[in-house]
Amino acid sequence: MKQVAEDAIAGRCSDGTYYVSRSWLQQWLKRKILDAPSEADAGPTVSIRCPHGQLLPEQAPGAKRLLIPEILWLFIYQDALTVKPAEDLGCSTFLSDSLQCSECSDELSEVACMEDSLRLVREKQRQTHDKLAVGKSIPLSLHCKYYLIPYSWLSKWRTYINAAGRNISSVEKPETLYGIMDLIKCEKHSRLLERPVDLVCKRGLISPKSSPVDGLIFITESDWKSFCEEWGGIEEKGVSAEIKLSNTEGNNLAESSDDVQICEEDLSTPNLVNSEVDSRSLVIRTFPEICEDCIGEKESRELMRKLEYCNEDIYV
Ligand SMILES: [Zn+2]
Ligand SMILES: [Zn+2]
Repeated sequence: MKQVAEDAIAGRCSDGTYYVSRSWLQQWLKRKILDAPSEADAGPTVSIRCPHGQLLPEQAPGAKRLLIPEILWLFIYQDALTVKPAEDLGCSTFLSDSLQCSECSDELSEVACMEDSLRLVREKQRQTHDKLAVGKSIPLSLHCKYYLIPYSWLSKWRTYINAAGRNISSVEKPETLYGIMDLIKCEKHSRLLERPVDLVCKRGLISPKSSPVDGLIFITESDWKSFCEEWGGIEEKGVSAEIKLSNTEGNNLAESSDDVQICEEDLSTPNLVNSEVDSRSLVIRTFPEICEDCIGEKESRELMRKLEYCNEDIYV
């Protein structure tokens, strides 16, 4: 029998008439088969049988099968019934001409299609937003138009498009941008309820002060436009931003800033490299503006809540 099973697994069996689970048979071979049948001898077809009692399509996980000759099948079948006599479900008989369950086939190909298209969508977005996808910050320049989106959304998006393998369909999808962009504006004045991340300028390079955990983050105009298409945003409802040098601090810097043209990612522009621009002289102009009223209100509400804590120890 062992030889017969080995032949079947190696594909050298020409008179196979009964299907069994391939992995089940491999396990069976590994066990000492001359001994009395054990618990493990039950269910030679349990993993190739679908919930409708038919032959499970082979592309289903763990459903690989192979044909064995009648003599081996009868041997296996006997043992299986001896171990679990009441339960003949695990021992359904599938002859070589059994058809795969059509219902399960349809379901599986639908899932495969969906997973394929999900993979494609992610792949495409990774290419479109190559820098954002790997978590690099984009090079920022003075006097260029950027867009701001919440960091929380961006990080969710990043997790989503970088998901791979089995959990590809279980990773939480980011919300549409339409709703998200509404959330960061106050109802009263339609201005910004959140602030952009702090920027620093070091050796002529403008970048976020620290790796952000919240707040609004800078993306390029083309990233914004693609995000709108991909994630249901409205282009005109975007929050744009421009980085300028402040006029109040370092007047001479502001004067010279007119000839700073570094929109083409030309980061070696001498003006900026040589001038000691510090973060205090960088000003972010947003449209719509930041709503200091509502942010102030929000902050004082939060402060009040903290002060109202009672029945708690206070540490100073
Ligand atoms: Zn089925
Ligand atoms: Zn407001």
